[in-house]
Amino acid sequence: MASHKEDYYELLGVARDVSADDLKKAYRKLAVKYHPDKNPGDKTAEERFKQISEAYDVLRDADKRAAYDRFGHAAFAQGGAAGPRGPGGGGFHDPFDVFREVFGGGGGGGGIFEEFFGGGGGGGGPQRGADLRYDLEITLEEAAGGCEKEITFRKLAECEHCSGSGAEPGSKRVRCTTCQGHGQVTTSRGFFTFRQTCPTCGGAGTRVEKPCAKCRGEGRVQQDAKVKVRIPAGVDTGTRLRSSGNGEAGTLEGGPGDLYIVLHVAAHEVFERQGDDLFCEIPIKFTLATLGGTIEVPTLTGKASLKIPTATQSGTTFRLKGRGLPSLRGGHTGDELIRVHVEVPTSLTADQKKKLEDFAIACGDADEPVSRSFLEKAKKFFG
Ligand SMILES: [Zn+2]
Ligand SMILES: [Zn+2]
Repeated sequence: MASHKEDYYELLGVARDVSADDLKKAYRKLAVKYHPDKNPGDKTAEERFKQISEAYDVLRDADKRAAYDRFGHAAFAQGGAAGPRGPGGGGFHDPFDVFREVFGGGGGGGGIFEEFFGGGGGGGGPQRGADLRYDLEITLEEAAGGCEKEITFRKLAECEHCSGSGAEPGSKRVRCTTCQGHGQVTTSRGFFTFRQTCPTCGGAGTRVEKPCAKCRGEGRVQQDAKVKVRIPAGVDTGTRLRSSGNGEAGTLEGGPGDLYIVLHVAAHEVFERQGDDLFCEIPIKFTLATLGGTIEVPTLTGKASLKIPTATQSGTTFRLKGRGLPSLRGGHTGDELIRVHVEVPTSLTADQKKKLEDFAIACGDADEPVSRSFLEKAKKFFG
């Protein structure tokens, strides 16, 4: 009986003088790899999981390990002639108990796996629906003023035919007879007891008498969903809004997930956004820049007038207080910054050109303040 059993040290891939720490590490690695929850339906993996758990259960106990080192598997052969039963009692622990002890978490059921493997896995119990993400593009005007949008997307929604129960109307959920409602079944082999997820109900403990014809008992169907989203003023690209309960439907009243709307503010033809401020560049005629006057400028809420003082240089920036975007957190509103760009006329009539030449003569050659100071600086280079 003992002769064909694999060596415990070899099973765990460790040396015979392995330390307790390294032994535990080796077991952890293999246990995760071969755990039945990670290998559903794989009998070889399940068998392996039991073997390594048994090996670890023996080797972690100093007395049992000593007995095993001395007598091999015969040390634990039930009713066998050879060797003493290891002190501390006969038999091994349930491999799942061993696993639980090593991975911590006292609670029963799938708790450890949710922590350890992330997510409930294939368990059939109530599960919250998945969260969904929807990327929505809006205009700068919409971001500034806030708006309401209706979005349409496909999701797993509660089946209307059975109201999410998975049972055909008129029929109901009944207790699973395989596991008597426990969701797990226990089998004994020799002195081992194994617990596993009930194959009939997938762990739910109940099953439907007659599965819903529309969703085949899933309780959920893929369908289009429409959601109205209220977008507050001041949002920016990357702002994430949560629409509670509008994600995927859960199973067995596990509750729906949430919908996250991630906003993208489209580039604007005229304005560039800088935080809560708006920036734009506006061309003005050189005569206006020289003589001064008033121009009309665009804002997000319509036109506004801007006074251009006499002798305005190209690149001068003017600020329109409070014409930017409201802060998403409230309180503050940004400004609109307008940088003027003085345009030089490109096509003059002969008459216009003559007048400009007369003007230049009247001024003397270089009368402009900017060019004068530039020429003074440049003199050193010209020598
Ligand atoms: Zn249904
Ligand atoms: Zn069952």
